[in-house]
Amino acid sequence: MRIGIIGAGQLGQMLALAGYPFALRFLSLDASADAPGAQVGPIITGAFDDPASLERLAADTDVVTYEFENVPVSALQAVAKTRPCNPPVEALRVSQDRLLEKELFGRLGVPTPPFRAVDSLADLRAAVAAIGLPAVLKTRRLGYDGRGQRYLRKSADVDAAWEAIGGVPLILEGFVDFDREVSIIGARSTRGETRCYPLCGNTHREGILRVTLAPATNARLQKAAERHLRRVMDHFGYAGVLTIEFFVQRGRLVANEMAPRVHNSGHWTIEGAVTSQFENHLRAICGMPLGDTDARGHSGMLNLIGTLPDRTWLLSQAGLHLHDYGKSPRPGRKSRYVGSEQRVGDTPVPP
Ligand code: AMP
Repeated sequence: MRIGIIGAGQLGQMLALAGYPFALRFLSLDASADAPGAQVGPIITGAFDDPASLERLAADTDVVTYEFENVPVSALQAVAKTRPCNPPVEALRVSQDRLLEKELFGRLGVPTPPFRAVDSLADLRAAVAAIGLPAVLKTRRLGYDGRGQRYLRKSADVDAAWEAIGGVPLILEGFVDFDREVSIIGARSTRGETRCYPLCGNTHREGILRVTLAPATNARLQKAAERHLRRVMDHFGYAGVLTIEFFVQRGRLVANEMAPRVHNSGHWTIEGAVTSQFENHLRAICGMPLGDTDARGHSGMLNLIGTLPDRTWLLSQAGLHLHDYGKSPRPGRKSRYVGSEQRVGDTPVPP
């Protein structure tokens, strides 16, 4: 079976690496011929919304998936007319818009911070009056790794935030004074089978994920997170891996966002879980039985942003696995991650 992947970033690269052992083959589409995915398989060089490139991708593959959220919905709809395309286009459409995403969470009983749509300075003032400060103003679309966000601490910040990112559809969210951040990753197959990984604890700086510790053992939060994730997956008739990121505030989960794809906070599953998130994504979209999602022990994942520490030193650390995406370093760019694994018997990490 041949899988078409829209996008050939590091997630596409790791998906392909996970599929070769069970004879899956891959073809990626990316604007850049030297994207990380091109190191491990053939690539069509073209824009994500170029009809001819998408047609070629669909014609030469059996199933199509995508590895990042900013694929134009119309492009995916065109592909879905000729090939099974998962995760579903509707999940992509909702996840591209922070307002639609939070409204869906609300309808499905998944708790969120208070939020309001903001399309004008008057809307922003009204939203601040309703939600209060501090609050976070975000672009509804095309924001990631903390981009397109402004923190509002005092009333004087309101006009400046509007000046900085206004003019496009926005959302104002109440600031969550969280104790920690966690994410849940799960898979649902085309046959409706679901499996969830243990929650993991995430640390962000400047909006970018830096460290993940897994598993974050808390039976009550695990149960609640699985219930929320399954509800969202069932709503979409989902196939593939889905991630929801939560704040933990006074012992309660508050949803921040979802990603209809494999996730950076799940990279630890390559060495740290019985089946990796990448393998389970492929199993799910190909209608195969899902693999066991149990953690093998305790794992830590460290994203290396920019330049890499001495490689010899890194590789001489016991239990450490280095994953180098092969990207040229750029300030603020996730270029490699290190997965360090400690085996069973360690002290559980609180979530
Ligand atoms: P996002 O791009 O929405 O994932 O946000 C990136 C990071 O900004 C999150 O992981 C949090 O650390 C922080 N953040 C985003 N929204 C909020 C919020 N409503 N309250 C507090 N912190 C937030």
